[in-house]
Amino acid sequence: MARVVEHLASLAPASRAKGRIPVGTMASGAEINGILAAMDFIGELSPTEVRGSVVVTATANAPALDVRHKYAPQDGQDLDQTFPGNPRGLISDRLSAALFAELRGCADLVISMHTLSLIYDCNPYGVYKQHPEGKFGESELLRLVSFFRPTVPCQMSVEPGQGELPGRIPGALDYQCLALGIPAFMIELGAGGREDRAHVRQGGEGFIGVAAHMGLIEGVARPPAATLRRVTSRTHVTCERGGLFRRLHGSDELVRAGEPLGRIVDMHGETVETVTRERDIGDHRHSPRAGGPYRGSRGLRGARVGRGGGAEMSRHPVRAAQAPHVDPGRTASER
Ligand SMILES: [Zn+2]
Repeated sequence: MARVVEHLASLAPASRAKGRIPVGTMASGAEINGILAAMDFIGELSPTEVRGSVVVTATANAPALDVRHKYAPQDGQDLDQTFPGNPRGLISDRLSAALFAELRGCADLVISMHTLSLIYDCNPYGVYKQHPEGKFGESELLRLVSFFRPTVPCQMSVEPGQGELPGRIPGALDYQCLALGIPAFMIELGAGGREDRAHVRQGGEGFIGVAAHMGLIEGVARPPAATLRRVTSRTHVTCERGGLFRRLHGSDELVRAGEPLGRIVDMHGETVETVTRERDIGDHRHSPRAGGPYRGSRGLRGARVGRGGGAEMSRHPVRAAQAPHVDPGRTASER
């Protein structure tokens, strides 16, 4: 099988002008929405009108997809913690090594698509990391993420012991791409191991917006979100007692410090614990830009997208207390 980079080099020069290549990859096997969004996106592209190349890895983790699970059953690893991979390692290490070898010297942008797994609930949101030697500033990453209109973009630390996601965070595809100087970020395109048509559509529109922003396609894309509420830390909220969690709020609802997130009930339905969070977790609704439809990439570049969002957020600077709605029933840190 020819390597992607060799195949792209063999194309007519006009079709690879400027070498702009966003790559959508789906790292985990139970995450369907991103796969469908990417397929819809390339299905709508006209090859004669694309300036550059789009490479879609419909699933990076075929063994996990086969069993509709986050991890490949052969080694139980989170593929998105194994980059840049090891060609002599276990199956996930080999997969990530093969994928990463194709990306090197090939991709100008990598979009790593995910959804939360079945037991979680969320609306689409973005996750981005920052590499100390990365060439791409936070504002550019936020701008790219904004085309997906995320409820929030979450800045994710790769430091250990953050209480957010166990495992080897620097082994994420997007972080390793940043280390190579390739802008990269993640979109969590909703939750659940089944198709959510609204979220799939939202993902497809995000791809189109990014492609127009990069100059791969002409045309009309939805404007990006005008303001984004940047999240700088996330956590699990845990409880003392066993039972069933009955939540009191939906995704994206604002819950102030001290207000109950939900109840732990026993098998008679009696409340055995009320789950609250002591720190504010913030309002993470974004304010979509008002105004007419987007016409061309110049307008996209001119859109106001910045850290912390609009005036309201400047009164409430985005700091550690800004976290997405996280509770024992649905956590934002499962990727
Ligand atoms: Zn994932």
